[in-house]
Amino acid sequence: MLDLKMYINGEWADAQSGKTREIVNPANGEVIARAAEGDAADARHAIEVAREAFDGGEWAELPAAQRARFLFAIADKLEERAEELARLETLDNGKPLRESRFDVADAAACFRYYAGLATKPDGQTYPVADPMQAMVVREPVGVCGLIVPWNYPLLMSVWKIAPALAAGNTIVFKPSEVTPVTAAKLFEIIEEVGIPKGVANMVMGAGPTVGNELAESHLVDKVSFTGGTVTGRSIMKAAAGNIKKISLELGGKSPNIVFADADFETAVDYALFAIFANQGQVCSAGSRLLLEESIHDRFVERLVERARTIRVGAGDNPATEMGPLVSQAHMEKVLRYIEIGKQEGARLVCGGSRLTENGLDKGYFVEPTIFVDTAPEMRIVREEIFGPVLAVQKFKDEAEAIKLANGTAYGLAGGVFTGDGAKALRVIKKLRAGITWINSYHPTYNEAPWGGYKQSGIGRGLGTFGYDEFTEVKQININLQVEPVGWFEN
Ligand code: NAD
Repeated sequence: MLDLKMYINGEWADAQSGKTREIVNPANGEVIARAAEGDAADARHAIEVAREAFDGGEWAELPAAQRARFLFAIADKLEERAEELARLETLDNGKPLRESRFDVADAAACFRYYAGLATKPDGQTYPVADPMQAMVVREPVGVCGLIVPWNYPLLMSVWKIAPALAAGNTIVFKPSEVTPVTAAKLFEIIEEVGIPKGVANMVMGAGPTVGNELAESHLVDKVSFTGGTVTGRSIMKAAAGNIKKISLELGGKSPNIVFADADFETAVDYALFAIFANQGQVCSAGSRLLLEESIHDRFVERLVERARTIRVGAGDNPATEMGPLVSQAHMEKVLRYIEIGKQEGARLVCGGSRLTENGLDKGYFVEPTIFVDTAPEMRIVREEIFGPVLAVQKFKDEAEAIKLANGTAYGLAGGVFTGDGAKALRVIKKLRAGITWINSYHPTYNEAPWGGYKQSGIGRGLGTFGYDEFTEVKQININLQVEPVGWFEN
């Protein structure tokens, strides 16, 4: 049994209330850890510590190359402990081990990317009217509250922690209360590499207490949040008090569009990957499959044939291709949506049930599920289910594909499969979404910005855009001819 404490001012701490929370393995319902259950008081303490550390200037004023050394060291340690971390991720979140291994490798790469970026050329100069010289520099925002979800517990943490620290901020980080294990291990590494006390703090606990305090506190300059759109809205409101900077990476209901001229087997293969990777618990999942009328029936038939062969099981079984959902509560939500889909009149052609045979009865396993004959106004087409549930939509032509694709409140991601390059780009340019793929789905790069249009969020993570979100822009105007301005005569 793991005992997980919070990390505040370089010390490991229990919650001030002494409360703990049981952390459960979703593959079998067993308790794997007891985590300190912080509340608003713990968050306030951590925020004060981070404020003091930022205002003290030690971290922000450290030469970027020295901050980078810490981040490179974290990346090395993540790699040294990669197998241990991957196993813990699978134990905590349920995802198949091959996915956890990928996430840990990606987390190390993300630290290296931002370590490198910290020392790269920055700022601009402008040729303004003589005798002035204008320039712009980037500075850290200050104290950053970082709040992440449970679907990629380590990776989502790193997507925020790495750029925030690289840019010279101090942080108070909150993992999801459902999956705090690998984040706690990351803070062991942060301690080990010697990041100065108070710079990086972690408070565990519930969203409405700890998360809300981070969003509300006037000592916090910026909140960077990844999670559901409803929570995002409440964070925006809470952040209004001191006009905090906000970055929100929220939900999606992303369209994956397949035209009749696409490479058929490639498109089928990616359609499966788009929705069933990580059990469909991916913000950018291709949870709506838009099929051109002429290939619809043949495509669905092949898709169902392949979906039925996906091996569902415990994530630590090397044969497993799809693991359990993250928690009982989440499984129940997904199963409720499947019922809603049936009641709305969509036709279930694959899956639709919880899996309990072959030793899966104590875990939260749901079959790969596919609905056809859907209508755009159905809830299973408009709302994010965040599970292995695919809604298929049919279209006649390019114009209808675009209309359907843009027909939800979300705008996170989207894909197009076609053999016609011009058509692919035409359609992608009309998609109101921040992350898109042509003849592919899902690959994500540390170098490229991540985020959504419409109700999928504000701002971008990753890449230089993600780094900029953790900086303020300062204009500096220098007079090269030091003499009075002479505006007033006397
Ligand atoms: P969630 O919104 O319930 O929780 C996310 C985090 O916010 C958790 O740490 C939670 O404790 C905290 N939180 C909850 N209520 C809060 C409040 N009132 N104030 C402050 N913090 C609060 O989301 P989840 O169920 O953990 O994750 C699933 C959601 O995350 C999905 O909607 C998914 O699309 C989204 N997501 C988006 C991205 C992206 O990059 N756009 C990536 C991963 C997940």
